[in-house]
Amino acid sequence: MLRLSKSCIGANEKQAVLRVLNNEYLGMGAEVERFEQALADFFGREVVCVCNGTAALQLALQGVNVGAGAEVLVQSLTYLASFQSISATGAKPVACDINPETLTINLDDAERRLTEKTKAIMPVHYAGGAVGLDSVYDFAERHRLRVVEDAAHAFGSAYCGKKVGAIGDVSCFSFDGIKNITSGEGGCIVSDDAELLAKVRDARLLGVKNDTISRFQGRRSWDFDVDGQGWRYHMSDVMAAIGLEQLNRFPEFSEKRRGLARLYDKLLEDVHFLTPLKHDYSEVVPHIYVVKVGASHDRDKLRSQLENQNIQTGIHYKPNHQLSYYRDMTIDFPVTEREYLRLLTLPLHPDLSEDDVHMICSVLKLLE
Ligand SMILES: *Cc1c(COP(=O)(O)O)cnc(C)c1O
Repeated sequence: MLRLSKSCIGANEKQAVLRVLNNEYLGMGAEVERFEQALADFFGREVVCVCNGTAALQLALQGVNVGAGAEVLVQSLTYLASFQSISATGAKPVACDINPETLTINLDDAERRLTEKTKAIMPVHYAGGAVGLDSVYDFAERHRLRVVEDAAHAFGSAYCGKKVGAIGDVSCFSFDGIKNITSGEGGCIVSDDAELLAKVRDARLLGVKNDTISRFQGRRSWDFDVDGQGWRYHMSDVMAAIGLEQLNRFPEFSEKRRGLARLYDKLLEDVHFLTPLKHDYSEVVPHIYVVKVGASHDRDKLRSQLENQNIQTGIHYKPNHQLSYYRDMTIDFPVTEREYLRLLTLPLHPDLSEDDVHMICSVLKLLE
C-alpha cells in the first residue's frame, strides 16, 4: 500500500532517543532548550515548544486574551484541531467560507460574520501555502483583531520571500508524526510578542511562574506562584531530541516534497478530470497534495478505485460547521460545501519516490 502520509525516521532520530533514555531525564530539560534555540535560529524569532500543535494554538489564543465571550474567525474547511483549540479557551469558533481557488478564508464572508465579540482571526495555511496573508493582516488591522496563524501545514514555507513564522503576529506549528518535521507529537508558538511568550511559557507547565529556566537545568521550582490557569502542555526531552534531528534533515525533506509536488503537477496535466491545487513551490513546502475531482467523476468512487490499486488517499477536511458540536447554519457555506465534495488528497511524504508518483498518475490516467 502506498501510504497517504507517514513519519520518516532514520538512524539519527533513533540514536537521539536512546541518548535521552540513557540520561534518565525524560521531562522538559536541556534537549527542549536546544530544540527551542535551533528553531529560534531557523525563524529568527523566539520560540516556545509544547506537546502538540493544538496546545500551541490554544495557548497562543489565551496568550492574546481570547477566552469566554470572545469569537474567533476561522475557515470551516480545516482540521478539527483549529476549532477545538478555540473552543478549549471558552471562545466560540465562527466558521467562515473559503475562496474556491486557494481554499483559504474568504475575507468578504468573514466580514459578514464579524460581531462586537470578534477578537481574533485564525488563518489556516492550507496544504502549506500562506496564500493572501497580507490581506488577512489588512483585515485584522481594520477590525482590530489579533492574528493567530494555524501554520501546522506550513513549516518551512515562505510568503513573499520571508519564512512563515518569521513575520506576522503569532504563528503556531505542529510536529505531529506526519507534518513537515516531527518530534513524535509536538508543536510550537513563534512570535515577537514578549508578553505573550512569557504567558505561554508559564501556562505550558501548570501556570508555575518562571519555571522554564529551572527545568532546562534539570531542576524545578519548589517555592512558586501561579496567577492563572495552566496546563501540562510542555514538550519532553525525548520529543525534542527527535525534533532536532528532523530539523537537520529538513532541507532534504523540503526538496523532496517540492520535487514530488512539481512532478504531480506536470504528470496530471494529462489527467483532464483532475485539477491540482496550485502553489508556487519556490515558496511553499507542501504538506499535502490536493486535487479537485471534475464533475465527470464521483470522488468517493474514485477513492475506492485507488484503494483497490493500493493507493491510499485522504479528504482534507470534513467542514467543521457540519459537526454537531460546531453546527452553524446561520449563514450558509456555498463554496466550502461544493468544494469539499470534490477534494482528494494524493500520497505525499519524503519516502515516496518519483516512480511511485509516476505509477499513481498512470493509474489516474487509466480511470479517466
Ligand atoms: C496537525 C494540525 C493541527 C494540530 O496539530 P497537532 O500537533 O496534531 O495537535 C492543527 N491544524 C491543522 C490544520 C493541522 O493539520
